[in-house]
Amino acid sequence: MSDPRSASHGRTNPERPAVSRGGTTAHDPVLDSVCRAEFSRERAVVIATHDGRPVDFRSPAGRSPRVDVVVVGAGPAGSTAARLLAARGARVVLVEARRLPRPKLCGGGLTPKAQRLAPPGALSTVERTVERTELRAPRLSPIHLEAPAASVAMVERARFDLALVEAAAAAGADVRDGVEALDVKEDPFGAWVATEQGRLRADALVLADGEPSRLARRLGLGGDARRLALALEVDLPFSAALALDVALLEFAVPGGYAWYFPKGDHASVGIGSYRPSQHRELKTALRRFAGTLDLDAAAGRLSGHWIPQGLRRGPMASARVVLAGDAAATADPLFGEGISYAMISGAVAAQVVADWEGRRVADLRAYDERLRRVLGPALGRLYWTARAVEASLDLALTAVRHSRHVRDQAVDAIAGRRGAFAVDRDCRFACVCALIGRVCPACRAPSGPGPSCAPPAACAV
Ligand SMILES: Cc1cc2nc3c(=O)[nH]c(=O)nc-3n(C[C@H](O)[C@H](O)[C@H](O)COP(=O)(O)OP(=O)(O)OC[C@H]3O[C@@H](n4cnc5c(N)ncnc54)[C@H](O)[C@@H]3O)c2cc1C
Repeated sequence: MSDPRSASHGRTNPERPAVSRGGTTAHDPVLDSVCRAEFSRERAVVIATHDGRPVDFRSPAGRSPRVDVVVVGAGPAGSTAARLLAARGARVVLVEARRLPRPKLCGGGLTPKAQRLAPPGALSTVERTVERTELRAPRLSPIHLEAPAASVAMVERARFDLALVEAAAAAGADVRDGVEALDVKEDPFGAWVATEQGRLRADALVLADGEPSRLARRLGLGGDARRLALALEVDLPFSAALALDVALLEFAVPGGYAWYFPKGDHASVGIGSYRPSQHRELKTALRRFAGTLDLDAAAGRLSGHWIPQGLRRGPMASARVVLAGDAAATADPLFGEGISYAMISGAVAAQVVADWEGRRVADLRAYDERLRRVLGPALGRLYWTARAVEASLDLALTAVRHSRHVRDQAVDAIAGRRGAFAVDRDCRFACVCALIGRVCPACRAPSGPGPSCAPPAACAV
């Protein structure tokens, strides 16, 4: 990578707005409060190696050997936490097992939520923005949606994640790629991270090491995700059957969907399902899906990975350690969107660490409750929406086709409008209406009484 460490070394971390893009703080209450949080900078940190020799954390410019926070994993969750913490004055070491830029299996679709949360440098890696989406299902004719408010920006994760790391380094984080955290420990005085280069000790540890978070398990944190999807992806040439500014979602498998996302010079083609009974079939289903686009899935390198969704059932924090991103299963259970939620959890982690440093919370266990409060309602609604869609796909898509109200709700959910990051109760209501086969008057479906109907809350279904 263009060595982010050189960007971080010697920085004095001057007073600066915590998030460099003004619009971000204005729109996002989580980031806003993270930006306001202050660090006491009073806690000392002891650093030692396995063999007792000291590790030199000092930069060439003579940075003092003190670390407030170690962040493990330089994906969107870890880089966001590192950036926000460093920007507030914490000493942050961000360790990443692989050399950067590192590939990450992903469709690389950034919803408006993710676009709002990403720093400008990361947004400059966007290769294409798609405002039109085609929805397909086995027994229905295609549905064409056009929604600038729900535009999806397409990125290659290697470049996007590198830009996030560079933003963290520019904020003052000490980035160490090619350094794997081999073990972690916690005691009343701090958290320890063992690496081949030695042992790091910090006041606080953010574990953002993705799925599966081996280190979280070692600490007895996390546990099962509410839902665990398996997704396969392959990079293929563009399909001549689709325009370059159209993304395609096909509800080709129970408990999931297949996607075609056009990037700069190729397309990401993939499929995922949370249903274990479908996992063996995914490869065949992906080949079939690619075939409908006149593409040969065997022409690219097919890989698969898990997407843990809907938060972990077990504790996601201890006194000194918090889990962020996939380590906390923050992806959404409807689309498997994980990047924005990983960044949000990184921001919440930074906020709670800042609150702890400022003695506004007793310890980092406050993170568990805070993360569930920030993301739980939205992810819960998306979970139930996913169940409703799965139970009655045709009805749900018919509602999308005919009801501007349902379409607006979907756009709001993808865009992250309406309060936090989710659809509101109107959307649940519309899904219930679709499920039971009656169309809400507010949905303005042909079978409903018409556009002047009552608002959903007054609907008597
Ligand atoms: C096939 C597929 C398609 C997807 N498509 C989309 C999409 O289009 N849009 C979307 O929003 N989401 C998508 N997702 C989900 C998204 O990729 C994840 O939710 C997101 O990457 C989670 O970010 P993270 O920071 O938690 O973890 P990651 O991005 O996985 O980063 C974790 C990092 O930790 C490092 N690490 C692991 N162990 C250690 C260790 N011991 N020491 C040091 N470093 C370590 C890893 O090398 C990695 O760099 C997709 C997922 C899959 C599998």
